[in-house]
Amino acid sequence: MTATKTFASQADLEEKQISFVQLSEHAWAYTAEGDPNTGIVIGDDAVLVADTQATPAMAADVIRRIREVTDKPIKYVVLTHYHAVRVLGASAYQPQQILASQDTYDLIVERGEQDKASEIGRFPRLFRNVETVPAGMTWPTITFSGKLTLWLGKLEVQLLQLGRGHTKGDTVVWLPKERTLLAGDLVEFDATPYAGDAYFKDWRKTLESVAALKPVALVPGRGPALIGEEQVAAGLKSTGAFIADVRASVEAGVAAGKDLNAVYKDTFAKLKPKYGHWVIFDHCMPFDVTRCYDEATQYADPLIWTADRDRQMWETLEG
Ligand SMILES: [Zn+2]
Repeated sequence: MTATKTFASQADLEEKQISFVQLSEHAWAYTAEGDPNTGIVIGDDAVLVADTQATPAMAADVIRRIREVTDKPIKYVVLTHYHAVRVLGASAYQPQQILASQDTYDLIVERGEQDKASEIGRFPRLFRNVETVPAGMTWPTITFSGKLTLWLGKLEVQLLQLGRGHTKGDTVVWLPKERTLLAGDLVEFDATPYAGDAYFKDWRKTLESVAALKPVALVPGRGPALIGEEQVAAGLKSTGAFIADVRASVEAGVAAGKDLNAVYKDTFAKLKPKYGHWVIFDHCMPFDVTRCYDEATQYADPLIWTADRDRQMWETLEG
């Protein structure tokens, strides 16, 4: 035993069961019992992958599943946001293009290196065969602001920025004809939303914009694929409720003049009964409360997490 409690995630070593399910005519979900998901669109002449898995070795399993259903080339990789666990597998697909919002590109420039070091340190299990990750960053080759439409033959695929939430650059992939959405970490299901780089004040409004599309199938960032309006609504509702509950608790603590440590303890105790069964609850809460406290007090934009800042925060709140 060391004197300092290690990150909750560093003790999380259990391997997850993979599911690969078809959601609609052209969309598939690669899900992993609460570990990061990948969404796949198989068009007339090409395949698009949204979120790559954390390492090329892990992405190889996604490719193996894709090859069970199609031999079309994987031309496009979409980064729904900049987090290392979503982007570092990109090289395995050898895509013609890597697409991301300009905001995501800017975040990679600003904090990509620190995020890579911090995420690998926080959660080693999620970076299986991390030695297969190439040096440096995963750079988008096409960026956009607001909306970009791709045509995979006759299949229309929209990349949409519906607002800030999980990060400043959040992008969703939308198939308008089959009303299927690849949501990235903007929506989670039975999994705790990570909000360490989030915009709490915007997130719920962005979820309303997601709901306005009226999806009938949705791949969340974590958790099982949501099929049917009822399941989609449940995912949007529970994600929004969690964000609102963290925010209400943190803002009440700030209004009462409490410091971060006290606000964290209060918020953890308040939310544990309702959300404690969701995966990565213990892992996310310190980051989520810290970011929410920062936003409520003095930082409109998220501070950059570094391996050092992770450790200091963890010692302050959990030591
Ligand atoms: Zn993320």
